[in-house]
Amino acid sequence: MNDKTDFEADRKHMVENQLLSRDIRDPLVLEAMRKVPRHRFVLPEYHHLAYSDGPLPIGRGQTISQPYIVALMSQLLELKGDETVLEIGTGSGYQAAVLGFLARDVYTIERHEELARQASRLMEDLGLGNVHIHIGDGSKGLPQYAPYKGIIVTAAAPNVPQALLDQLDEGGKLVIPVGSRGGQFLERWLRKGDDFQCENVIPVAFVPLVGKYGWEE
Ligand code: SAM
Repeated sequence: MNDKTDFEADRKHMVENQLLSRDIRDPLVLEAMRKVPRHRFVLPEYHHLAYSDGPLPIGRGQTISQPYIVALMSQLLELKGDETVLEIGTGSGYQAAVLGFLARDVYTIERHEELARQASRLMEDLGLGNVHIHIGDGSKGLPQYAPYKGIIVTAAAPNVPQALLDQLDEGGKLVIPVGSRGGQFLERWLRKGDDFQCENVIPVAFVPLVGKYGWEE
């Protein structure tokens, strides 16, 4: 990875004080969080806050999620390294980069072209060739690369889109915030044949998923 600035100590501190101190235990997730340079995914004026315990603005009224939420959503997928996964809501590309260390291939889709292009440039710069960025309405998923062992939705949906459940592989997991525009519950869905089991994880607050199976603009 081509990271010339030294934020390694900040990342180590972030992992110890924000992740290990809570419930992040998956060693692969902890390692990925130690590696991905979050400061590269935030606007220059927020560099000094890149490893703080919260979300930050990334432009277009969108945010990069809190490091703990990125780690938690990644951990909930229980990846081993050989999977194909999908993320809806590329935003800055940070979550996708973390997944890039945890899976074989990561497809990620963003509705704002400008954010997608910026994230693509960053992936190239960081040498993350297994992260594939698409532009469009991710509430419909990305059926051309399905099935996925894991799907992460990083924007809030009013209901779980059936299109996303349909794109899960056998034993695959979908992690998605579901609720109102003001607050949601993080849900984890597990596919067993034609059966889908849902588990509530924690209350969260995400920006809305805007699209066919999300909210209207
Ligand atoms: N994962 C991102 C990161 O690591 O920076 C954070 C994403 S931000 C909380 C949510 C993103 O979802 C925004 O960039 C927003 O534009 C995007 N989004 C909302 N609805 C979408 C849709 N239907 N399809 C694709 N992207 C969408």
